[in-house]
Amino acid sequence: MIAYVLYSGGLDSVIAIKLLQEQNIEIIAVHFTSPFFKNEKFCRETAKEQGFKLIIKKLGKPYLKMIQNPKYGYGSAINPCLDCHMHMLNEIKKIAKGGIIVTGEVMGQRPFSQKSRDLQLIEKEAKLKNKILRPLSAKLLPETIYEKKGIVNREKLLGISGRGRRIQLEFAKKYKLKHLTPAGGCLLADQEFAKKLTDLFKHKKIISDLDLNLLRFGRHFRISENKIIVGRNEKENLKLTELKDQGDFIFEVEGIGPTTLLRGKKTKDAIKLAAELTLSYSNEKDVVVNYGKKLEKEITVKKIKREELESYKI
Ligand code: SF4
Repeated sequence: MIAYVLYSGGLDSVIAIKLLQEQNIEIIAVHFTSPFFKNEKFCRETAKEQGFKLIIKKLGKPYLKMIQNPKYGYGSAINPCLDCHMHMLNEIKKIAKGGIIVTGEVMGQRPFSQKSRDLQLIEKEAKLKNKILRPLSAKLLPETIYEKKGIVNREKLLGISGRGRRIQLEFAKKYKLKHLTPAGGCLLADQEFAKKLTDLFKHKKIISDLDLNLLRFGRHFRISENKIIVGRNEKENLKLTELKDQGDFIFEVEGIGPTTLLRGKKTKDAIKLAAELTLSYSNEKDVVVNYGKKLEKEITVKKIKREELESYKI
């Protein structure tokens, strides 16, 4: 029987795979990508090095819809961890078609989504009662059907609980396992990112991948139905130019300064503010700001005070 492992690239999912490989169980790791977490490169490399098959699956519109309206609410930011796990398990169920379903969840590790009753709730909602194998905490959890049938040897699994990572780190050292840092860098758990995403949900009905990708870069400002993004360094300036949509305006000063992107209705006020912000974050003083689809127009503005600038910040 093949084990389909929910694989983030983080330490716990890496250990879950290793524990089953030790029992000679064939592994297919399933890595989900979205504009909020992207560890595809790392996952491809480790799958090759550690000898397991890998499926990469992009989470699309239904996942975004779930984030906007999660049944079980958010964690500390805009991270709907319980619903997210249920969503991913439902996806993996379609791929596994009766195979062993495995996660790296550790009982009690995350207060919002991994308490014992949360793990039971996830099973119930995903209609996978006793069918989710959690090798790191297996000995503390009810027996799964795979253990009952003798497909997986429960004795060779672990009984870890809580937030400490000592046992996992020792295990990784022993087997020389590569892994990503805890949480794998999910942007939904980041407070600053949460503000930007909430603003986007509030102001845009149809959200594209481009809108979501833009949230990763620059300082974000809002003036009614206009969004202004100011690059924080050269890399972000380039990224904003790259991610510019057909209707967007870009702004640059004559001299050293950021690239600014204006998306939305592009009203007179919005154009003025975008130019002011561009100048305010530049090293220049009283220079012309070029703007437009291809910087074909120009406008003269003054720098604005920090308090005013902050009042538009998302
Ligand atoms: S941290 Fe992000 S990826 Fe992980 S369960 Fe929560 S929402 Fe999902």
